[in-house]
Amino acid sequence: MPEYIQHEHDVLVIGAGGAGLRAAVEASAAGVKVAVITKSLLGKAHTVMAEGGIAAALANTDDRDNWRVHFADTMRGGQYLNNWRMAELHAKEAPQCVRELEAWGALFDRTPDGRILQRNFGGHRYPRLAHVGDRTGLEMMRTLQDHGIHLGLDVFMEYTVVSLMKDGDRVVGAFGYDRERGRFHLFRAKAIVLATGGIGRAYKITSNSWEYTGDGLALAYNAGAGLQDMEFVQFHPTGMIWPPSVRGILVTEGVRGDGGVLRNKEGRRFMFDSIPPLYAGQTADNEEEGWRYTQGDKNARRPPELLTRDHVARCIRQEVREGRGSPHGGVFLDIAWIKERIPNAPEHIKKKLPSMYHQFKQLADIDITAVPMEVGPTTHYMMGGVRVDAESQMSDVPGLFAAGECAAGLHGANRLGGNSLSDLLVFGKRAGEYAARFAKEHSQGKVNPDELAAEERRALKPFENEGAGPYAIQYELQDTMQDLVGIVRTEDEMLRALHKIEEFKTKAEHAGVSGHREYNSGWHTALDLQNLIVVSELVTRAALERKESRGAQFRDDYPTKSDGYSGFNIVVFKGPSGEASLRREPIPPMPDELKQIIQEMK
Ligand SMILES: Cc1cc2nc3c(=O)[nH]c(=O)nc-3n(C[C@H](O)[C@H](O)[C@H](O)COP(=O)(O)OP(=O)(O)OC[C@H]3O[C@@H](n4cnc5c(N)ncnc54)[C@H](O)[C@@H]3O)c2cc1C
Repeated sequence: MPEYIQHEHDVLVIGAGGAGLRAAVEASAAGVKVAVITKSLLGKAHTVMAEGGIAAALANTDDRDNWRVHFADTMRGGQYLNNWRMAELHAKEAPQCVRELEAWGALFDRTPDGRILQRNFGGHRYPRLAHVGDRTGLEMMRTLQDHGIHLGLDVFMEYTVVSLMKDGDRVVGAFGYDRERGRFHLFRAKAIVLATGGIGRAYKITSNSWEYTGDGLALAYNAGAGLQDMEFVQFHPTGMIWPPSVRGILVTEGVRGDGGVLRNKEGRRFMFDSIPPLYAGQTADNEEEGWRYTQGDKNARRPPELLTRDHVARCIRQEVREGRGSPHGGVFLDIAWIKERIPNAPEHIKKKLPSMYHQFKQLADIDITAVPMEVGPTTHYMMGGVRVDAESQMSDVPGLFAAGECAAGLHGANRLGGNSLSDLLVFGKRAGEYAARFAKEHSQGKVNPDELAAEERRALKPFENEGAGPYAIQYELQDTMQDLVGIVRTEDEMLRALHKIEEFKTKAEHAGVSGHREYNSGWHTALDLQNLIVVSELVTRAALERKESRGAQFRDDYPTKSDGYSGFNIVVFKGPSGEASLRREPIPPMPDELKQIIQEMK
């Protein structure tokens, strides 16, 4: 008989970041019993690192903004592969979600007349990001956490879920372990919300925390849910590149929003050389106009440094490849130059970007108010994830919901900065509401003890294995994804990656760990590794299937966008023998009203 501790709730939320906490708050407010599980401590989820802000058309800083412009910006950023209904709901509901957060105690930066201040960000036509300096995620987490605790959530900290349990088609529980003691737990629930974040740890250079091992995606996929848009992995253009120990740590887009410029080693602002036609009408064609935009001139167009992330990342890569990069293989991001334009620039920079100032000072001994930073692309965000229904966030598996970075649809081929935090609020709320509704309409399901015993055996297998340890395999996998399925992709390289991934599967199957079950990070890594391998394979297969360049996917062998690939999303299911089964899922026709908005905003 398996040995485990049992818990029973109406709604179980896996993940305590912005999406998970927002879902839990909503479900709890609907009067059902809610538990939240997190791999780390409450308040430490990845959302806490979010810097720049929450995108919402509040129109506080520029009164021309409204949900229609936000909708059009999001669709253009996503290269029209977005779930248009999600983009519509998101643009309409984000302002109210931000106000709600404010009502629960979030302290945003303010306009002179006391409203929530909004800043510029890439791909957003108007200043749209509600923020708290460059520590917005911290404020969001603090607020949601306080609110949730008062609603009486049960929080399980330092627990990891390793599989979902089903009763027929329906999901009815989650099996996992507590990291401290290594004991097994069964969480029975009528509805489950996945809010586990992204997959950044599949790559060597990433801004993502250790928790980002694609668990939610693998859990959903193994339980029979479809995953969508797996080819679209966002590489943020500006991560730290020096010293090596800090490589990948994010440098917020807020630096560019506040006037920071990108230069190559010749001192040239290379972003003016390459403005895509889709954005030509909205982008400044001279430095003066770009500067005026960052200072709030409503008649100026945004500087090319604020083009979408995929584009800026590729331009940086090109500068480096063609020998015009900085000494450590990136380019220069300069905010110090604004001293030529405004008095007290160092104080201004420290006030607007306090975390960036400290990050560079402490980690690289660089004073960003005096000299430029060296930056380069870093794996940042997963547009792909669990396929969900736009209204309810339910996946293909009844009772299983997903929200936040682990869900797909809103961002299409590329996410705009700031649209993740708003995504967490809008769709976290919806997932919580519909999960509670589902829980009220269903009773607890039955968990099959044989399946539970099999899961327990699988989880303990690394202790019996005698193969190499999991860390070496994980590093090799990260190198493979970085080198062969990175910013620029080709068929040959991706086929090589698939071949290696097959080898990693075998190695991971036999990966051995020693010691006991208490705080055994080798054991934890051996289990996480299986998820990383699943998502790495699916990213590679989807990227091979999309024979074009669009948004975050750039294929050197198919360098242009193809009309033939504009009408569908790639969705992958686990086939009967465990194989990945890919489908091209047509995007439903958009209503005329939304089409018209896109036409008007072109
Ligand atoms: C440095 C940085 C800055 C950013 N800045 C911004 C910004 O300014 N604006 C913006 O919109 N976006 C920003 N982003 C992106 C944004 O922060 C993330 O997309 C977002 O926070 C994801 O939130 P989430 O709730 O989906 O997941 P997370 O906040 O990552 O939470 C995931 C939770 O799931 C738990 N979990 C995972 N797997 C398991 C498991 N197997 N069992 C149990 N629990 C599990 C984790 O422990 C964690 O609690 C930034 C990202 C980074 C890295």
